[in-house]
Amino acid sequence: MKSAIFSVGTEILFGQITNTNTVYLSQQLNRMGIDVLYHETVGDNPGRVKEVLSRLLSEVDLVITTGGLGPTQDDLTKEMAAEVMGVELKIDEESLEKIRLFFEKTGREMTENNIKQANLPAKDGFILPNNAGTAPGCVFEKDGKIVVCLPGPPREMTRMFEESVIPYLQTLTHEVIYSDMVRVFGIGESQLEYMLQDLITGQTDPTIATYAKEGECSVRVTSKRNTLEEAREAVEAMAEKVTAIVGDYIFSYHDEDLKDVVAKKLMERGLTISCAESCTGGLFASTLIGVEGISSVFERGIVTYSNRAKMEELGVKEETLARYGAVSEETAREMTAGLKKKTGSRVCISVTGIAGPDGGTAEKPVGLVYICVDFDGKTECKEFRVRTVNRNWIRHYSVLLMMDMVNRIIG
Ligand code: ATP
Ligand code: MG
Repeated sequence: MKSAIFSVGTEILFGQITNTNTVYLSQQLNRMGIDVLYHETVGDNPGRVKEVLSRLLSEVDLVITTGGLGPTQDDLTKEMAAEVMGVELKIDEESLEKIRLFFEKTGREMTENNIKQANLPAKDGFILPNNAGTAPGCVFEKDGKIVVCLPGPPREMTRMFEESVIPYLQTLTHEVIYSDMVRVFGIGESQLEYMLQDLITGQTDPTIATYAKEGECSVRVTSKRNTLEEAREAVEAMAEKVTAIVGDYIFSYHDEDLKDVVAKKLMERGLTISCAESCTGGLFASTLIGVEGISSVFERGIVTYSNRAKMEELGVKEETLARYGAVSEETAREMTAGLKKKTGSRVCISVTGIAGPDGGTAEKPVGLVYICVDFDGKTECKEFRVRTVNRNWIRHYSVLLMMDMVNRIIG
């Protein structure tokens, strides 16, 4: 089944509100195996609502509208949909009674224009009750085409969609979609796509698509089949093929964040962790502490920004700092060793780097970062050259690198 999502509301065109309804509906429809071909938005203008709705209906079987069901003059979506579909609207006494009750319960006075909200299709369609507000929604069904009219306020819209529209649409469609997000780190999107090219181009089902977001990449594997079971099996088989090619970079098969994967492993295995941070200034600790339940393993986070702090808190030698500099593998090593001595945590990690924009040299440019991690006495230190987008990007990316090193060393 082909569908379109049609948002009505001048405030969307003005950029005053974000069109979250469309995002929500797209996700829901795709999950149900209904292809979404168009997103359209118009203001509260009856002529344009009619024109766009007619055009959409010439190309798709199902249009879902949101907005413009309220009592005011400019709320005209339902009326225009009725015209386009050639369906008559009549006052529905039951809906009118519900609206009256709603006003009574909330202690507000029901004005005359609210009656218009009970003007609904008596045949060639049906009413969608609004259990979170006043304006009922409705479905128009005629000549093989369907228009579903939902209210604009997201709380009302989602409730109506979940309670009434999903069960209705399920009776119309027989395909289900299953998809999973394979998450990778340590490889750029273009390289990822290049490595997966044969899989991507040769496939119609499951389909594969790559995405990039804030330093991490993902591969979405999607299958549309007659049963959920079949779709899931197809996705899993394809995920195995993806693993065979880029397995070393994969940290999650189910769309989890790297920090969550790391935290989960630490917690499940009861591995205590401490960190000593220079250039990230506590961001690693803060990111991990953002995960619920981490108190069972997170022992200590120290921000040792100055040389003095590195010496006093972690026992880094003055001589090391003088000879190799604060941003060096030697310093990172001593930071981790000092942290281990101080805390006894099973995982100890330290970071030192140049976040910029100043402070870089030809030999030690901005973006140079050293990370040293120790797990039960096994130590690993690495040098990285982080892309120099800006100071906060370097901090953000350094934290991802740290998470990745912890993830790999604990296995
Ligand atoms: P009401 O009875 O509140 O007038 P309505 O169905 O007539 O509801 P609109 O008047 O179009 O809906 O929108 C009401 C409010 O709902 C908007 O001010 C906005 O806050 C929210 N809203 C409308 N459309 C969207 C959308 N596409 N995405 C997110 N929020 C929306
Ligand atoms: Mg309105």
